[in-house]
Amino acid sequence: MQTRIYEFEAAYFDGKSAVRHVAKIRLTPHGLILTIAQHSERTWPYASIRLNHSGGARDPVRLERPLGSGSAVETLVIEDARFLEQAHDIAPGALVPFLHRARNKVLSRFLLLMALLFIPPFLYVVWTVGIPAMTDSVAENVPVAWEEKLGETVLKTMIHSSLPEPDPEMKQVLDEISGQLLHTFPNQPYTFKIYVHPGKMVNAMALPGGTIVVFQGLINITATPEELAGVLAHEFQHVLLRHSTRGIIRQLATSALLAILVGDSNGVMNSVLGAAGQLESLHFSRSMETEADQGGMKMILAAGIDPAGMVRIFEKLQKEERRLLADLANATGDAELEKKIPEWMKYLSTHPAGEDRVALLQELSRASTREPQPLLPKLDWQSMYREPGKIKN
Ligand SMILES: [Zn+2]
Repeated sequence: MQTRIYEFEAAYFDGKSAVRHVAKIRLTPHGLILTIAQHSERTWPYASIRLNHSGGARDPVRLERPLGSGSAVETLVIEDARFLEQAHDIAPGALVPFLHRARNKVLSRFLLLMALLFIPPFLYVVWTVGIPAMTDSVAENVPVAWEEKLGETVLKTMIHSSLPEPDPEMKQVLDEISGQLLHTFPNQPYTFKIYVHPGKMVNAMALPGGTIVVFQGLINITATPEELAGVLAHEFQHVLLRHSTRGIIRQLATSALLAILVGDSNGVMNSVLGAAGQLESLHFSRSMETEADQGGMKMILAAGIDPAGMVRIFEKLQKEERRLLADLANATGDAELEKKIPEWMKYLSTHPAGEDRVALLQELSRASTREPQPLLPKLDWQSMYREPGKIKN
C-alpha cells in the first residue's frame, strides 16, 4: 500500500526579487493550493502551470506561472520527488513537462493531418477492394446448404409470401429445358428450383443456392423455348458462379461495417437483415453479367440448343426496357426519367445491357459446331402464355 501525501513543502520565488519564501502546497484535483509564509491561501489551477522537470527522480520539480503579460514568472521549487507521482495520482495528466506538452501538440497536429490525408483513401480502398476481396473469398467458401438458406431468406423478404409451384404444364416445360441445360454441368452441386412469379414484370432473378424466379411477363415475351432457355442459362450461370451469394454477402458486410462505423450497434442487425432483402443485393457488376452471358452461351451450345434464341431474347429485353422507359417518360412528361428509375426496376440494369452485350452474344453464338436440335418441337409455345396476375395466398 502506498501512503498518500497531498501536502508538500516548497520554496516560492515571486519573480520580482530573489527572496526565497517558504510555501506549503496542497494537491487537489483542480489545482494547487498555496500558503506562502503568513499570507492567505492562493490557488494555482493546473492549466496555468508550466512544469520544468528533468525527469530524474532526485531532481527538484520546478513549477512556473506567468506573471501578467510579461516574461516574468513566479516559481515553486519542490525538492520531494514524490510530488509528481502524487500529482498524477490526484489529477492524472494535469501536470506534464512543458516541452513535452508542446511537442505533444505538434505531434498531435501532425497525426491529425496524416489522418485527414490518409483515412479517406484508406476507407475508399477498404470499401472498393478490401470488402469485395474479403467477401468474395467468404462467398467462395460458403457451403451450398448456407447459400440455399440465404436464398430462401432473400426470396421471403423480397416477395413477402411464398411463391406457388408452377402449374404442371409449365413445370414440365421448365424441367425439360433446365434438364437439357444442366446436363452439360454434371458435377455441379446445386439443386435448382425454378419459380414463375405471376407478375407482369419482364424480369428474372437468380438467388443464392439455386432458386431462380422467372416472371410471367418475361415468359410472355418469349416466342420460342430457345429464348426462355437463353434466360435460364444466363441465370444458372449467376448461381454456378456464385454471383448472387457474392453480391449479398458484400452488401451485408458493407451495411454491417457502416453501422459499426456510425456507432449504431443496435441498428447493425436491423440493417444487416434489411440489406438481405434489397434487390440491389442482386445487382451484378458488368463483369459478372459478361461472365454469365459467356457461360450461358457455352451452356446453350453444349446442350445443342439453337443459340439464336438467346441472342433474340436479350435483344427483346433491351427493346422492352427502352419501350418501358419511353412510356413512362411520356406518361409523366419527364424526359430525364430514365436516370431516376430505381436500378431494381430495370431488368437490364439488374442485367445491364446495351448493344455491345447483344453483339457479344452474337459473336459467341458463332462458336456453334453442330446443328442445333429444336427444343420441345411438339409443344405449341403459345400454351406457355398466361394472363399476368398477383400471387394468390
Ligand atoms: Zn444477369
